[in-house]
Amino acid sequence: MNKKASTFHCPVCKKPVSKGTENFPFCGERCRTTDLGRWAAGDYRIAGEAAHIINDNDADY
Ligand SMILES: [Zn+2]
Repeated sequence: MNKKASTFHCPVCKKPVSKGTENFPFCGERCRTTDLGRWAAGDYRIAGEAAHIINDNDADY
């Protein structure tokens, strides 16, 4: 199967991050803080998921 070492990407800036670093899974303290700030502001979204759940009751009448 795929034996390549998996590269993790910073969820904030999408830069490749090495596992085991101090701020993993973020590339640095700055991105980690940015991510926490999004949660605190209630503005966090998971891209590609949960987007279609809201309108589920509106179809098929
Ligand atoms: Zn980053």
